[in-house]
Amino acid sequence: MKIGILALQGGYFEHQEILIRLGFETVLIKEVKDLKDIEGLVLGGGESTTIKKLISLPLKNALIKKIEKGLPTLATCAGLILLAKEIEGEEPYLALLDIKVKRNAYGRQSNSFIKTAKIPKISENYLELEFIRAPIISKVYNNTIILLELEGNIVAVQQGNILGLSFHPELTNCLEIYEYFRKIINEAKLV
Ligand code: GLN
Repeated sequence: MKIGILALQGGYFEHQEILIRLGFETVLIKEVKDLKDIEGLVLGGGESTTIKKLISLPLKNALIKKIEKGLPTLATCAGLILLAKEIEGEEPYLALLDIKVKRNAYGRQSNSFIKTAKIPKISENYLELEFIRAPIISKVYNNTIILLELEGNIVAVQQGNILGLSFHPELTNCLEIYEYFRKIINEAKLV
């Protein structure tokens, strides 16, 4: 099962490491040709404004087309911001996920934190969730499901084949989240 990881800026190696550990084949995505034959996509964390600048227009359009067609996508932090249909105070970018996000909602890098929480749809285990200059999801609409709210803030959602997280599962080894993503990919294959 081959997973593409957008690799223009930010923490993509950590996602790759975990995916390889779990037996996935991976490819780092920098241009359109890298998207060939992938069955899943990871849009990881970093700086969304920088990633936007580094994505070529053909790559942007190809990503939109593939995700719209149902490519299972795990979007974390900056990746979540890129996918959101609405960004507070800014124009949206890929605009595919029915949520509104507020960037840097928890403050600066020094306000980063780890919280332990259960996401019942994903696992019965408590997971360590790391937030780094994280966005919060301020609104969810249409068919998007809330998977986790922490202290009144929505931080994990699912819209069909898209799993959107405010935090970084790759940094605390949240293998359960990748296993859940595998499930989404397997179910997408059956359709
Ligand atoms: N603050 C970053 C942004 O707005 C996201 C932070 C992250 O991905 N850890 O793009």
